[in-house]
Amino acid sequence: MHVGIFADIEGSFGIWRMRQCRTGTAEWQYGRQCLTKDVNCVIQGAFNGGAQKVTVKDTHDVGFNCIINQLDRRARYIGGHYIRPTLFGNISQYDLVLYVAIHAASGTPDAFFPHTHYGIFSEIRINGKLACEMDIYGACLGECGVPVGFVSGEDIAVRQALQCLPWAKFVIVDKRKEAYASGEESVQYILNGRKRLQEVAETAVREAFSMKPLILPGPLRFEAVFRSEELANKFNTWNFTQNKNTVAWDANNMLEGWEKLNKLTFFPKNKYPFRRPLFFLMRNFYRIKNTYFAPAPNPEGAAQP
Ligand SMILES: [Zn+2]
Repeated sequence: MHVGIFADIEGSFGIWRMRQCRTGTAEWQYGRQCLTKDVNCVIQGAFNGGAQKVTVKDTHDVGFNCIINQLDRRARYIGGHYIRPTLFGNISQYDLVLYVAIHAASGTPDAFFPHTHYGIFSEIRINGKLACEMDIYGACLGECGVPVGFVSGEDIAVRQALQCLPWAKFVIVDKRKEAYASGEESVQYILNGRKRLQEVAETAVREAFSMKPLILPGPLRFEAVFRSEELANKFNTWNFTQNKNTVAWDANNMLEGWEKLNKLTFFPKNKYPFRRPLFFLMRNFYRIKNTYFAPAPNPEGAAQP
């Protein structure tokens, strides 16, 4: 069995504030250490559960968050974004995906760093229903025959994910500062949490037969609400249907709808023909920058077992 471990960062143990997820900051360098430790536990769990092959796909922001030379060497690592067959590369190669460190959907009140796909959107709806990232990415994987069998993150993010992935195993992660800045108590909380990650990932892989690929039957009507009308005007170079700050499009299935969402988010029409060399350059630039020119980590007094 080939297990894909998809890594976001917001839902890692040890992370309690936005800056720890912001690429390039000293606090993010600390956040990367947190994420890498979480991912290593999930890798161990996947192998314990019977995976023959494990690939880590880094997805947050530019896609280079895990500290590559601190990752369990048995796992293959894929950083950065791709053009084909999807933004995440070849997602149909996996038999099961475990999604680490997720966050809540755009528009979720009182959630930690809630967003769907990208910070420019205040809400994404599919067929009128508020969508979280698991609705979108989970259904993209689902259309390729791949189930998502595990999620970790704050309670509201996990609850949203379980609405579309009721079979998924999960680990809930505290996002309050007190959980991580309280000395010995925090050390214990983090150690227990990471142990849970390993055990629950192991169970998910062992019970992979009970997981289902998520399929959202088409046709699908996407509505992306931008944070402002100016943003909508700036990003909608594709002349998708627009009403003030809301941009809408139709798709026959999720992969097609996601492709259009990615056009809207990442590729202005005039740059679209150059997207392949652009992404190639970006992958290499950020791999080198985030590996060799990263700042010293600032844990801000957090416990670091
Ligand atoms: Zn993220």
